[in-house]
Amino acid sequence: LRVETEHPYTVHIGQGAVKLLTERYGDLLGAADRVVVIADSQVAELHLDKLLDALKGLEPKVLRVPAGEQAKSVESFMDCHSFLLSENCSRNTVILAFGGGAVGDLSGFVASTFMRGVPFIQVPTTILAHDSAVGGKTAINHPLGKNMVGTFYQPRAVVYDGDFLETLPENEIRSGMAEVVKHAFISNEGWLDQLLAYDSLEAVSGEELEGHLEKGIAVKAAIVEEDEFEGGVRKFLNFGHTLAHAIEAHLGYGRMTHGEAVVLGMAYALELSSSPELPRFLNWAKVNQYPLERLKDMPFEELLPYMKKDKKSTAASLNFVLLGAVGQPYIETIPEQRAQAAYDTLRKTIK
Ligand code: NAD
Ligand code: ZN
Repeated sequence: LRVETEHPYTVHIGQGAVKLLTERYGDLLGAADRVVVIADSQVAELHLDKLLDALKGLEPKVLRVPAGEQAKSVESFMDCHSFLLSENCSRNTVILAFGGGAVGDLSGFVASTFMRGVPFIQVPTTILAHDSAVGGKTAINHPLGKNMVGTFYQPRAVVYDGDFLETLPENEIRSGMAEVVKHAFISNEGWLDQLLAYDSLEAVSGEELEGHLEKGIAVKAAIVEEDEFEGGVRKFLNFGHTLAHAIEAHLGYGRMTHGEAVVLGMAYALELSSSPELPRFLNWAKVNQYPLERLKDMPFEELLPYMKKDKKSTAASLNFVLLGAVGQPYIETIPEQRAQAAYDTLRKTIK
């Protein structure tokens, strides 16, 4: 699967895909003075042997960073640079990001800033990373805001090995599948039907999952190709995200997974859209234990200030990505009162 941004690259998906690191990218990696793996510590515990096996002969250096969101701190960003400098890395070094979206965002930002930019390859290990590893947004968190410091910087390749996904805990499966469903909502009704028709997330086989990830990446890639730097259609990827970001900020990051918050946000966006899809979506969310009931203890007034701060909203209004029919997202500016009424209606609908 090709992503035709200013600097195009390929996304490889499949069981055993890591072997492509040497088969397809042996030249790039072989020519590097150092190959540095920045690894989520939990992922390293589970899967580093397999990655190192695939990199045999390249003698990579491995830096373990804290698991999950903690990886995106200013301290861990500095640790990465310190490691690269102490290992005498140069502009000729290649970085591999090994983990979920957090390590991908961190490593991409490190790669884009170390000596003004070195090549990097994403080796994602979560379902959610089908979203985060493609599109070239990198970031770390500032104490005053998530993802506030970052760059647009595309990887040289994404090597997505389905084997790594087998150890994902249930809540991370739930989180990642939310973004898959988001990609279906903004693109393709038949695919959405398929996703919502599974009895449960556990009923999705490994092989089927790879197919869905491929579709999700294709949707994201097409949008990013059209609008790499988010002037227009790329905003559609934020379907469900205005409320999701507010919930995450309000609860404190990590209290609810990103994807779980996105499911609440999509329910809200469907309510605002008066979409006929809402009932079956709520049913799917309930069956799969997304925390819908949490909306009940989050009054609108507490979320509103965060929604106003959303990068996609201007000061006086709330901007949402809404849905006409499935596959037809659009942006609408909504007055506060209407936003509040829809929120309260949704809360009443959720039993
Ligand atoms: P994550 O990277 O925070 O990982 C979540 C947890 O899963 C961690 O504890 C990690 O150790 C563990 N884990 C990862 N892979 C595993 C595996 N194979 N087996 C067992 N455990 C595993 O979570 P995520 O959901 O992948 O990424 C979230 C991050 O992605 C957020 O920081 C978000 O801002 C970012 N993001 C970025 C973009 C983008 O366009 N750049 C898009 C969406 C999200
Ligand atoms: Zn998201």
